[in-house]
Amino acid sequence: MRQIVVVGGGPAAVWAAIEAKRKDSSALVTLVTDEACEPYEKPPLSKAVLVGKSSPEDAPIAGPGGLAKHGVAVRLDSRCTAIDRASRSIVTTDGILPYDSLVVATGSLMRELPVLPIGMPRVHYLRTEAHARAIKDDLFGCKRLAVIGAGLIGLEVAASATGLGIEVLVFEVAPRIMARACDEETGSFILAEHLARGVKFEMPTAVTGVFSQPDGSLVLQTTDGDTHACDLVLVGAGVTPDDSLAAAAGLVVQDGIVVDSQCRTSDPRIFAAGDVTRFAAGYVTTQPQSMIRLENWLHAQEHGGIAGRNAAGGNESYAAVPSFWSEQYDLYIQGVGWSDQAAKRVRRSLPGKGTLLLETKAGKITYALGINAQRDLAAIRRLIERNIPVDVDALADPAKPFNAMLKAKA
Ligand SMILES: Cc1cc2nc3c(=O)[nH]c(=O)nc-3n(C[C@H](O)[C@H](O)[C@H](O)COP(=O)(O)OP(=O)(O)OC[C@H]3O[C@@H](n4cnc5c(N)ncnc54)[C@H](O)[C@@H]3O)c2cc1C
Repeated sequence: MRQIVVVGGGPAAVWAAIEAKRKDSSALVTLVTDEACEPYEKPPLSKAVLVGKSSPEDAPIAGPGGLAKHGVAVRLDSRCTAIDRASRSIVTTDGILPYDSLVVATGSLMRELPVLPIGMPRVHYLRTEAHARAIKDDLFGCKRLAVIGAGLIGLEVAASATGLGIEVLVFEVAPRIMARACDEETGSFILAEHLARGVKFEMPTAVTGVFSQPDGSLVLQTTDGDTHACDLVLVGAGVTPDDSLAAAAGLVVQDGIVVDSQCRTSDPRIFAAGDVTRFAAGYVTTQPQSMIRLENWLHAQEHGGIAGRNAAGGNESYAAVPSFWSEQYDLYIQGVGWSDQAAKRVRRSLPGKGTLLLETKAGKITYALGINAQRDLAAIRRLIERNIPVDVDALADPAKPFNAMLKAKA
C-alpha cells in the first residue's frame, strides 16, 4: 500500500490529501498539522470571524465531516520537525512517519517587525484561528486600533474594526495603499471608501518606536517624529514562505521551495504546494519571465490538488489562472490573471461602487481587477483560461457583456 504523507494544515495540504486519496483510493494518506483543530479556512479570520458573525469551526476546508470523511488520517497538534530523505520518513513531535511520497504545504510565516515583536502585549499578528480569537477578544473594549500595513490583511481588519465602532489609524510605509495588489486608481477608490468610513491614514510613514503607558495603552512613534496613542495594534506586514523544513532537508529553496510545473521539488518523491512554493508559472496567454510565488487561497487549493494527485502517481501540470479577492465593507475586490506594467490598460466604469481595470496583450485579456464586478470577472476568467481574442476597443463599453465575448473562437 502506497503511503502518502502531507505536512501542513491549510488549503494546499487539505486538497493535496483529498486529491491523493481520490487518485489512489488504496493509499494510506496521512495529514500532519501543528494546529490543534481540523483545518479551517483562513479568509474569514480577518472578516466575519473578527466581527463575531462566524467561527473558524464553521468553515472546515474539507467540508462537513472533515478530512476523515474523505478517508484521510489526520494527526492534529503534531509538528513535523525534520524530513529524513535517506530513510523516506518524517520526524514529528509524536513519532516517525514513513512515506513513499511526501507533500510539503507548510504555508507562510508572518513577517515580524522588530519594533513590534510577536508576543508584545496589545500587539497582534493574524494568521491562525488562535490569533483571530485573541484579536476578537481584545477588540472588545478597544477604542483606538492602530493597523500597521495597508495591504489586504491590514485593510480587512481596519474595515472589520470600523464596523465595530472602533477608531482606526492605518500606518503604511509606501505612499499608497495595496500597492502590491492594486493599480493606483483602484487603490484610490478603496482608500476613498475607508476615508468615508472615518479611517485615518499616515503614509508614507513607518513606526519606529513603541512606548507602553501606565494604563496599558501604547504610544507609537513614527519616522516623522509624531506620536499616536492607541489601545491595540494589528500588524499586517506581509508574509514569508515557511520553507525551513525543506531547506534543512537539502531541497532546493530560493525564498520558497522550488517546484516544477508538476509540483515536484528537487527530490522526485517530495512535492510541495501553496504559499510555500516558488515556480515558473505558465498558462495559456502569458508567461511571467521569472519564478514567482503566489499567496492566495485559490492558488493554494488548486496547486495542492495537483501536488496530491501527482504524489499518488499522476502526471498533471499546474496551469491555473491566478485569482485573489478581498472584502472591505461592501467592496468585493477581485483580481484575475497576471498583471504586467507593459500591458495595454482599459478601464470600464460600472454602476454604483464598481470599477473594472482590464489589461490586454495581442488582442487578449491577460489580467483584470474589479470592485463589485464578480459576474464580469467570472466571464473574464474564462476568456483568459480559454485564450479567447476580444475586441479591445469594446472593453471600456459597459453595454458590451463579457459573456457574449466568450462565444468568439479561440
Ligand atoms: C487572515 C487571512 C485572511 C486571508 N484572506 C484571503 C482572501 O480573502 N483571499 C485570498 O485569496 N487569500 C486570503 N488569504 C491567504 C490564504 O488564506 C493563503 O494564501 C492560504 O491559506 C495559503 O494556503 P497554504 O495551504 O499554502 O498555507 P497555510 O494556509 O499557511 O497553511 C499552512 C499550514 O501548515 C501548518 N504547518 C506549518 N509548518 C508545519 C510543520 N512543520 N508541521 C505541521 N504543520 C505545519 C501551519 O500551522 C498551517 O496550518 C488570507 C490569509 C489570512 C491569514
